[in-house]
Amino acid sequence: MTERLSDKLRQFLKSAEGREITTRQVREETRVQPGTPAWEAVRVYMHRFVAEGLIKPSGRNDGVFKVIKRAKSIQVFGREKRPPLTLNPPRDYETKEPLGFWDALVVRENDLWVIAGYKNAGKTALCMNILGENLDMKPVVMGNEFSLMGEDGEHEPSPRFINRLEGMDWVEWTNGNGEERFELLPVYDDYAEQVKPARLNIIDWINLPTELWMIGSVFEGIKRALRGGIGVGVIQKNIGRDSGRGGAFTKDFADVELLLDPYGDDKDMVLLTVETVKECNRAIMGKRYVYRIKDGVKIVDFREVFRCGHCFGKGWRGTTPCKECNRTGYVDSPGVW
Ligand SMILES: [Zn+2]
Repeated sequence: MTERLSDKLRQFLKSAEGREITTRQVREETRVQPGTPAWEAVRVYMHRFVAEGLIKPSGRNDGVFKVIKRAKSIQVFGREKRPPLTLNPPRDYETKEPLGFWDALVVRENDLWVIAGYKNAGKTALCMNILGENLDMKPVVMGNEFSLMGEDGEHEPSPRFINRLEGMDWVEWTNGNGEERFELLPVYDDYAEQVKPARLNIIDWINLPTELWMIGSVFEGIKRALRGGIGVGVIQKNIGRDSGRGGAFTKDFADVELLLDPYGDDKDMVLLTVETVKECNRAIMGKRYVYRIKDGVKIVDFREVFRCGHCFGKGWRGTTPCKECNRTGYVDSPGVW
């Protein structure tokens, strides 16, 4: 009888791994009746389980125990080696050429790509192009750019999202049955809980925690939830800074970080910097590119640029605007001075 009770309790604890439980709950769940010898035995067993390291008192003296979850060891050798995933590159709308740096980036399962951009510097346009090129992965999109709460309290696609979908006239957004080739989720926080595993998850944008250093744990949670998928997350960035808000904390968990800044005075021009790359097949970190965004979503005139040697990238020589780079700080070919 007691043997069976002990087995039953252990079985229950197994099912409750990682959760908090009380002695009362244990009795209820294992259907131990008050007044029976088993009733008191449960209390005794709970002490034994603490000694065995199966459960741990909360430390608040409130009768709550944490059921310890044992990490399983992972086999290292003899596993099937998985090839890098592909994430199709966005293309220049006019030349149809893929963005020049993309093929240098090695994509792996659970990678989180971070797009850190100054406001109106084309963060969403880049996301939309990644989305449009990767519909075969049935991507998931979430965040304020994609949906909002309507007057009736129901979630709906944001008008800006609809406009962008319509602007991308080269993409088939639905399959033959009219079924959407992506999934729109009304999610504006706790992203990690909503990320769909083994898919491309695009979050535009990630609300930053009040404490900026916590961005690391937000990214970490998303990465863990990807479970074989890929994440693309957008965050805000201050102008000219070399990382998104959250500073160095954004870099710990970003496998790729792309920075977007305005370029010169033209509000449709974007300066893209390949900032962080954890794995690449040729030197690409620190390279810069510019392009124009047409109709809010088309990437055109994409090209690499180089720091202007006349003004050292400042756009100004003393108090006079640099003529060589037209005050942008960058020129189309290296070493022209
Ligand atoms: Zn210059």
